[in-house]
Amino acid sequence: MHCPFCRHPDSRVVDSRTTDDGTSIRRRRQCPDCSRRFTTVETCSLMVVKRSGVTEPFSRTKVINGVRKACQGRPVTEDALAQLGQRVEEAVRATGSAELTTHDVGLAILGPLQELDLVAYLRFASVYRAFDSLEDFEAAIEELRGGRDSAPDGSAAEPAATGRGPGGTPEVPQPATAAD
Ligand SMILES: [Zn+2]
Repeated sequence: MHCPFCRHPDSRVVDSRTTDDGTSIRRRRQCPDCSRRFTTVETCSLMVVKRSGVTEPFSRTKVINGVRKACQGRPVTEDALAQLGQRVEEAVRATGSAELTTHDVGLAILGPLQELDLVAYLRFASVYRAFDSLEDFEAAIEELRGGRDSAPDGSAAEPAATGRGPGGTPEVPQPATAAD
């Protein structure tokens, strides 16, 4: 790949290590021209099967754009959106599957979005879960109430109401960019 600083068409690997979870390899590279160093991350290509049957690479940007729409007018920062995108990507990668459906991706968004902003969550869920009546909204709000207070009987509670990410993703915020 090109050097990200001077566009030199080549680079030299100076260090290479597998991440702790074994899902990626980080390589430290040095540009032979400008001598600056940078890091690349090699991961398994993650594909998403759309409803139409078309397969496309997983895109964190698409996740963020979709959530940003639901967050219009809400006090949600770009940083928070970026962090949500990272959590969603980590959650779907943690499934260990190389191929997902748009449904899987939507499911992975619900948990972190619920923690971020409840109104945005309801907007997103209303589209994702195809709400078509007031009762659907009421049921979703009941779920949220059940998750926040103590659930009266828990019968209406879905996994999304537990306050944890899908698959029990640990809530460990991490820097969005690779540190030097
Ligand atoms: Zn360079």
